[in-house]
Amino acid sequence: MRRKLAAGNWKMNGTAASLSEVEALIAAHPSPGVEILLCPPATLVGRLAALKGQHSLMVGGQDCHAKASGAHTGDVAAAQLADAGATHVIVGHSERRADHGESDEAVADKARAAWSAGLVAVICLGETLAEREAGRTLEVVGRQLDASVPEGATGLNTVVAYEPVWAIGTGLTPTSEQIAEVHDFLRSRLSARLGADAAHVRLLYGGSVKASNAAEIFAIPEVDGALVGGASLRAADFSPIVKAL
Ligand code: 13P
Repeated sequence: MRRKLAAGNWKMNGTAASLSEVEALIAAHPSPGVEILLCPPATLVGRLAALKGQHSLMVGGQDCHAKASGAHTGDVAAAQLADAGATHVIVGHSERRADHGESDEAVADKARAAWSAGLVAVICLGETLAEREAGRTLEVVGRQLDASVPEGATGLNTVVAYEPVWAIGTGLTPTSEQIAEVHDFLRSRLSARLGADAAHVRLLYGGSVKASNAAEIFAIPEVDGALVGGASLRAADFSPIVKAL
């Protein structure tokens, strides 16, 4: 049985003033029946971890370097995120793949670095609009899954997030049938590679998830939760999504 996961990715948003939103979220969900993960910018990981105290809310980074330490100015190591109180880290987000030219292989290296530091890797993949329109969605996400998710992935160390690039921040969402098609495909592809472990890996959907569409998306059988961008910034927007799970 896979536990539901509501994950928020704040991207390059938020300052100390945003911590009041986390307080409000915690107040609205004193003992949530689902897992809640917030991935603030690296500057806030430690503050958020301190703020949450004993609450079950989990904290994650948005990226990590593939190396454990060294001369990589401006980068963050997985162990540093763990040291600051993170339990998870997003790797391979499409914005990193696009802005920083991260390849599937680089994403797999980051996932391994996350595991080495004891973090759960939230590995993102998804097709562009051009790829979907060319009928290449399953080919693209299949390649990304094979090459970005390293051998050794289990339900304990890995979450996979399907985020169609064209749905991110656009207000556009795939139909339930389109989401179901990709999630079913990813589940069977994972099973072929990982065997029984695949059944425990959670598959999140991400891309313009909001209160008004969350229930419909969460009704899709292979959707184990969501990776939410814009609607995770304010408790008033994120809380209804958590409730819909
Ligand atoms: P939006 O929810 O803002 O579309 O962003 C989704 C996303 O990229 C989460 O990682």
